[in-house]
Amino acid sequence: MPQADIEKSPTPNLDEDLISNFRLQFNFYFGLTTFLFLSPFTVNHIITGRFIMAAFTGVITAIAAINSISIFRRKVQPIPFVYHYVFILITLVSGLYLQGESIIYWYYPFAFIVFSSAEHRQARIMLFVSFALLVPTAFYMVEQPTAWRFAVTYLMVCLLGDLVVGLLDKAQRQQAMIAVTDPLTGALNRRSLLTHLDDAAAACQRGLGTASLLTIDIDHFKKINDTHGHMAGDEALKAVVDTLIQRKRQLDKLFRTGGEEFIMLARDLDKEGSIIFSDNLRAAVEQSNILDGKPVTVSIGVASYEQGESIDDWIRRADDHMYLAKRHGRNCVSPHYVPSSARAEPS
Ligand code: GH3
Ligand code: MG
Ligand code: MG
Repeated sequence: MPQADIEKSPTPNLDEDLISNFRLQFNFYFGLTTFLFLSPFTVNHIITGRFIMAAFTGVITAIAAINSISIFRRKVQPIPFVYHYVFILITLVSGLYLQGESIIYWYYPFAFIVFSSAEHRQARIMLFVSFALLVPTAFYMVEQPTAWRFAVTYLMVCLLGDLVVGLLDKAQRQQAMIAVTDPLTGALNRRSLLTHLDDAAAACQRGLGTASLLTIDIDHFKKINDTHGHMAGDEALKAVVDTLIQRKRQLDKLFRTGGEEFIMLARDLDKEGSIIFSDNLRAAVEQSNILDGKPVTVSIGVASYEQGESIDDWIRRADDHMYLAKRHGRNCVSPHYVPSSARAEPS
């Protein structure tokens, strides 16, 4: 496999990246609009002598401005949303005492902001707390019919918000999954390969287990296409992947790196274990009767991660072994499993 072909691109946590990016952007605009909308109210509170409300809205505006400027300049949000949440909630509760029922209008954008700024589960807790505080306060402070109307409409906004965020989260996760999945076979594509290998190598360096690379190439695949047609070739590819996925362990990852070439990242197997595992995979493909009695076979090159080696070298060693397996007649694993004697092949 040519090294240059390996994409140095996105992470397996694509969904988290996209969502946190969305939140960062939202918080930038949230900060900006809060500053623009709330500053006049702060000034008005000062002019009319409502100094407590002026202090509350002043703090909210200041947090918003600091976050927005920092997101704009450095793409980081220095003040976590939870602080903003606490201040806004205190302002909304005390605002009802100090200013009366007109403050209720601000409760609805607050729910929207919580859903957009906080992680979904956190947002649920925040809105539960806000509901538990704001609704009794409303019943205590304003006329019953108004309090009821507020309770029902606020509950509706919270429930619908929760539904929308849940659906968006799900769609986002599906999108992220599609982005790293090969559409034909369902194996992972190359996008997240390097990130997974980096993570595995880093774990090995820290002494947290072992990792092996298995370069898997279907034997004489061109002939399969030529003899049975491209569609049958596609079916054979899918069947090989199904077999490999069924046999791999949960932590192992299978990537389609080329037409009929795959890499499996196998975790927590020593050198000997990964060779035995590879031979089991090889045997499973051979026995899986993919083309009605005509065997489909694979050649596998194995390389266990060695401390300090680069990812490129690690892949190259697995590739070298795969080519050796081809030279040894295909349908085999390189290095061969030799229990006690020394091996003649490259390590
Ligand atoms: P070897 O045993 O040395 O690996 O021989 P091979 O024929 O498997 O290798 P070669 O690289 O010569 O051929 C690979 C073939 O895989 C050529 C290409 O047409 C076919 N191929 C690549 N991608 C796909 C695909 O998505 N579907 C099908 N049906 N064939 C594909
Ligand atoms: Mg091949
Ligand atoms: Mg090939």
